[in-house]
Amino acid sequence: ATLFLFLQAGSFAQKLPNIHILATGGTIAGTGTSTTGSSYRAGQVAINELISAVPELKEIANITGEQIVKIGSQDMSDEVWLKLAHYLNELLQRKEVDGVVITHGTDTMAYTASALSYMLQNLTKPVVLTGAQIPIDQMFTDAKRNLQTAFAAVDAGLSGVMVAFDDKIMGGCRAVKVRTMGFDAFESISAPYIGKIYADGVHLEHSRAGEEAAAPFELKNKLCTDVFLMKLIPGTRPEIFDSLLELGYRGVVIEAFGAGGTHFERRNLLPKLKKLTDHGVSIAVCSQCLYEKSDLSLYEVGRKLLDCGVIPGRDMTTEAIVTKMMWALGQTEDPAEVKEIFARNYCGEVSGRL
Ligand code: ASP
Repeated sequence: ATLFLFLQAGSFAQKLPNIHILATGGTIAGTGTSTTGSSYRAGQVAINELISAVPELKEIANITGEQIVKIGSQDMSDEVWLKLAHYLNELLQRKEVDGVVITHGTDTMAYTASALSYMLQNLTKPVVLTGAQIPIDQMFTDAKRNLQTAFAAVDAGLSGVMVAFDDKIMGGCRAVKVRTMGFDAFESISAPYIGKIYADGVHLEHSRAGEEAAAPFELKNKLCTDVFLMKLIPGTRPEIFDSLLELGYRGVVIEAFGAGGTHFERRNLLPKLKKLTDHGVSIAVCSQCLYEKSDLSLYEVGRKLLDCGVIPGRDMTTEAIVTKMMWALGQTEDPAEVKEIFARNYCGEVSGRL
């Protein structure tokens, strides 16, 4: 009740926003307890029960919604992303819809948020993903507060795809799940929060609220999931890249060491990478370090990687770069155009000199 009063007194105006919820499952809609010996089962609670579990929400918004899937987000896939994009395209063009909240498991929420960020071009309305670490019917659940934060993000007039979690609102293509148990499960990586909930309401810190989109809203929902993510370890065998070629992957993302290191004196990977790019496979390189950018011009090995035709991932998160690769390969078959797509910043996924 306290939070409801705070939201009502704080940011919610007389005219209630119209918020549509798309439910996909996750622990927020989970059943079971972790303390009595039974395990959680994600995604069991249907959308109507989810909404009625937080009666305060009806006081602060006109709510409609539908169930898209009922899964734990470990089973999230491009099919569900396409279904979500289809619904979002229709909903966001309806004048009366102020924003959409997507309830989602936390495990792959950052991938979904990034994928939707590319598929929904020039968004002028908010699409806010949220979830929970504990099911909504449990005493210590964070579900209610996270839903309220997502609703507050819609009400704040923000635009774009966002993740709302633990009182923070962050850009969808910057969010990463960094904790398995803590309520502060998400961080905004190498980008400030868009907003934060304080005692006196939502503080917008780095929002694009009220900004005009550069071009009209457009659904660009073609994806190619023939993308492999390779995390290097000391001693990665170069031949593994031959297998990727044989398996028909069209895109490879390499999580390299530090600023962009790969083996090149022992177990030299470079000839294999060159072979892949010569065969038209797009390769993008990001860092295993969570924070700050990779920079392929910093070390000799990085320059050699660029000579092999790889795409620098700069400060993109792994989730943002993998989904950008899927999206880019869905837009074009031409590796040169894939490079051009990576040279552009679409939704704040990459910063620095492009
Ligand atoms: N395994 C769950 C899921 O991602 C975790 C969660 O929702 O927090 O669906």
